[in-house]
Amino acid sequence: MNLRAARATFRLLALALLTTAFLAGCVNSDTPPWTGPAQSPKTGASASSDEQSQEARKTATRFLRSFVDRDFDGLWGMLRGDTQARLGNKEAFGGFLQRKFGSGDLSYELGDPQSSSQSAAVSVPITLDLGDSRGRVAGPPLVLVPQGESFAVSDTGPLGPRGPLFGSLAAVRPELDVPILIYHHFAPDLPTDPVQASISVTTSAFGDQLEWLTANGYTSISVAELYNAFYYDLPLPAKPVILVFDDGYSEVYQLAFPLLKQHGFGATIATITGAVDHPSYLTWDQVKEMSDSGIEFVSHSVTHGNLAAMSRDDLRKELGDSRKAVLRISLRRAVRERLRRRSPAGARCSA
Ligand SMILES: [Zn+2]
Repeated sequence: MNLRAARATFRLLALALLTTAFLAGCVNSDTPPWTGPAQSPKTGASASSDEQSQEARKTATRFLRSFVDRDFDGLWGMLRGDTQARLGNKEAFGGFLQRKFGSGDLSYELGDPQSSSQSAAVSVPITLDLGDSRGRVAGPPLVLVPQGESFAVSDTGPLGPRGPLFGSLAAVRPELDVPILIYHHFAPDLPTDPVQASISVTTSAFGDQLEWLTANGYTSISVAELYNAFYYDLPLPAKPVILVFDDGYSEVYQLAFPLLKQHGFGATIATITGAVDHPSYLTWDQVKEMSDSGIEFVSHSVTHGNLAAMSRDDLRKELGDSRKAVLRISLRRAVRERLRRRSPAGARCSA
C-alpha cells in the first residue's frame, strides 16, 4: 500500500473541506445549540433517569467549572484513562486548551443530558461563550461514562479533538506528517472498466489495508482533529492516519463501514449533499447511522461542480447549502430525541 506523507494533500483538503462540520460548530447567535442544528450526540439517545441525569449534570458542571477557571489539573483528573492516553499528557492538553480558548472570560451553558440507548454513556450538549469577539460556540457534546458512583469524561466535546475552530489563524504546527488515504468506490471485485477500476478498491484489499494499519500501530483521526493539531497543537496519537471517502457512495455503507467497525477505525466522509438519497449514493438514514457511530461527515459541495469556475453567489450556495445539509443530520436527530422525550413511553417519531 502506498502511504505517503501528505502535507500537500492536507493543504488541498483544507481548501476542499472548508465547510466541515467543526467549522460549522460556531454559533454566534443567542440560540442555544440544542434548539438548533449544532448538536451531535454520539448515539441514539433516550430520556435518562432523573438521578443519572442529575449526576451527569453535576459532573459536566464540575468539568466546565475547571475549564473556565483554567484548573487543568482538576479537568485532567476527570478524564477516563483511555481519553488521557489519547490526549497525550496533562501539560500538552492544558497548553492546547490555553492556545485555543485564550484568556477571555469564559462561560458555558449545559443542555439536557441524554443517555445512550446502546451504551451506558451520557452525552451533554454544551455551548461555550469565549468572552471575546469569537462569541458563542458549540460542537460535539461532552460524553460521560459511569465510573464508580459518578461519571468520568470520555469525550471532551467542544474542548477536545473534534471541537470547533475559530476562523483563520496562523498554524502552530504547520509541519504535520499525517497520511491521508482517499477512497472513492468499493466493490467485491474490481470493475472491468479501467477508469472505474482506477478509483475502486476491493473489499478484501480494504480489509487488508485496515489490518496493515492496525499491525503497524496506526490510529485513525478525524479532519477536525488534524485542524486542531495544525492550529492549536492538539496532541495527536503517535501514528495518526486519516481515511477519507470521497463523494459518499452507497458501497461505503454496505462494504466499507462494516470493516471500519470491525477494525475500530473512524473515517471522514466528504458528502456531495445533493446526491444523498439518489441511486448509488448514501441515504440520509445511512448518513445518520454512521454519524451516530462516530464517522465524521464534511460537506463536499451540493453538486460536485467546478468550484473554481463558479460565481461568488453560486459558490456561496454550494458551500453554505451543503454545510447546512450536513448539520441537518444532527438537527433531525436532536428533534427526534426531543420529541421522543416528550412522547408517551414507547411512542416513536420518524423525523
Ligand atoms: Zn469528489
